Amino acid sequence: MSSRVLTAVAWPYANGPRHIGHVSGFGVPSDVFSRYMRMSGHDVLMVSGTDEHGTPISVQAEAEGMTTRELADKYNRVIVEDLQGLGLSYDLFTRTTTLNHYDVVQKMFTGLYDNGYVVPKTQLGAVSPSTGRTLPDRYIEGTCPICGYDSARGDQCDNCGNQLDPADLINPVSRINGETPKFVETEHFFLDLPALAESLGSWLSKRTDWRPNVLRFSQNLLSELRPRAITRDLDWGVPIPLDGWRDQPMKRLYVWFDAVIGYLSASVEWARRTGDPEAWKKWWADPEALAYYFMGKDNIVFHSVIWPGMLLGQNGAGDHGGQVGPMGTLNLPSEVVSSEFLTMSGSKFSTSRGKVIYVGDFLRDFGPDALRYFIAVAGPENQDADFTWDEFVRRTNSELANEWGNLINRSISMAHRYVGAVPAADDLRDRDHELLKESQAAFGIVGDALRRSRFKQASSEAMRIVTQANRYLSEAEPWKLKDDPVRRDSVLHTALQVVSDANTLLTPFLPHSAQRVHEALGGEGVWAAQPEIRTVEEEGGPDYPVLMGEYASEQARWESVPLPAGRPLAKPEPLFAKLDDKLAETGPEWASIA
Ligand SMILES: [Zn+2]
Repeated sequence: MSSRVLTAVAWPYANGPRHIGHVSGFGVPSDVFSRYMRMSGHDVLMVSGTDEHGTPISVQAEAEGMTTRELADKYNRVIVEDLQGLGLSYDLFTRTTTLNHYDVVQKMFTGLYDNGYVVPKTQLGAVSPSTGRTLPDRYIEGTCPICGYDSARGDQCDNCGNQLDPADLINPVSRINGETPKFVETEHFFLDLPALAESLGSWLSKRTDWRPNVLRFSQNLLSELRPRAITRDLDWGVPIPLDGWRDQPMKRLYVWFDAVIGYLSASVEWARRTGDPEAWKKWWADPEALAYYFMGKDNIVFHSVIWPGMLLGQNGAGDHGGQVGPMGTLNLPSEVVSSEFLTMSGSKFSTSRGKVIYVGDFLRDFGPDALRYFIAVAGPENQDADFTWDEFVRRTNSELANEWGNLINRSISMAHRYVGAVPAADDLRDRDHELLKESQAAFGIVGDALRRSRFKQASSEAMRIVTQANRYLSEAEPWKLKDDPVRRDSVLHTALQVVSDANTLLTPFLPHSAQRVHEALGGEGVWAAQPEIRTVEEEGGPDYPVLMGEYASEQARWESVPLPAGRPLAKPEPLFAKLDDKLAETGPEWASIA
């Protein structure tokens, strides 16, 4: 396997704070994967940022009485703080409103345009009859032709989720003054996906290691690919880098087109910020490098068909051929890892109906590791999963506090009380060797599952070792071996070694508590590095916050490291607080307002 891994994480949309359903789809799985990949010796580049263009940002800015930029600034900061709190180890988490992003997006557009994959087409656009000005799509409202919803917007229907054109709406009216818009011919650019279908098909036919449902879904789309609009009548987005278009205030690149290019632009920005501006090419231009994309299932099409199509076109590899574009020959995704949806007590999260659990609220009351653990063991990995307070309390109390917390606490407490240090192992017997062997074997099993993004399987195998160690302690009863301190110490040594192994196995899931277990076992320094919020400058633009970190220097390695006998131990502090059972019925007060 290659030593270079790009973890490309879906970009959260910055029109409000993100809820736990969002981070269960893109955030936690990609971080568990990246932490494991780094621990097992790969050179990981994990990038993402906030997606800040498009109509919903403009609409929310109006609702909050702000400019679009002010609104994007506000929720970019909220999201950065939430993701930092969750411990998501981005090498760079940036945003789409940077000059760097505009530059890379425009270069990708130019590469596609020069090769003939971006074609102009005439459509009907809305104009105000009283002023003669172009009306942005979001200012047209009418009845959805698909579902009949009476407040659909000119670009999409919020009820059925379909993308629309303003001219599709039944009884369209201007939201500015209620007049009926006039429709006149207007020019837009389209991505010529049919000209990329054959190249996409031969690329997809080699993706035999993908999950069958993702592969089949993507292959089925190829036969019905149509040219897709990449510009809109809107005023908030990346300008179109062509003479006669650049300065038109009402023509911008469509938000989805610029957002998928974010993986590339964030890699370019990361390279510049780390002092080696060409370094991104090691992940994008070296055909040996691997690229894993993480997202919710509603975004598969962008990552398995549209973005690979854009890359092929820029590379000059579709039906029209062409030159290699301004970004050079770029790698396509190696793997598309999609999650299903997390629901809340049986129904969809809904901000408008108050049925929502925001990441920030959750972190404030319960900390990051309990949520990370819940998402790993009970999240929407292969099928939709339901979050209930009952299940959250049960898993936190029985698995984290009773099983794992208790194993750590009693084994370190006894070793501290009897010896004050890691005890010697001078009388190891078959039962001890058996457990130690099982715990060492888990590195291969858990690692293999994590490499394939099988998080449930990986976490339950790690927890199985914890259960085995608890059973071992209960059977060996070291507290009854006062008259045989050599044997007692060997049992405690064995238990501590398995605590150390299990802590390594659980580090990708529980990085914050893993650091504390590392210290409780007498370890020093950083075990599991965390992201930091840094304020960065951009020449010609305002400063902004990003997430970055020094993960390469972290100590944790994916292997069993022998604990040195005689290393001093302190009395341990409890790691996982038990949650009040009353919480299981209603959740915290802030969650019961719906
Ligand atoms: Zn509709």
